[in-house]
Amino acid sequence: MRIESGWRPVSLDEAVSRYATAVKRCPACHGRVSINGSYSGPGFGKSMTHRRAHGGCPLKPDTYSGMPSLHPLAIS
Ligand SMILES: [Zn+2]
Repeated sequence: MRIESGWRPVSLDEAVSRYATAVKRCPACHGRVSINGSYSGPGFGKSMTHRRAHGGCPLKPDTYSGMPSLHPLAIS
């Protein structure tokens, strides 16, 4: 999550309600992510989705290769 000049961790709820338009990155691989899901209630059905699939991200079990690595398009 990019806030002004620095990064800070935020919850998914915060990300959606307060920083919906801010640039978000994955805490593990630093790839760009977006927050998807229902907006009907706090913490309901939200999930983080990588803009581009990346096999080195342990937060993405579907595509994780077993070897953690930074995203090829990591945001710094
Ligand atoms: Zn990731």
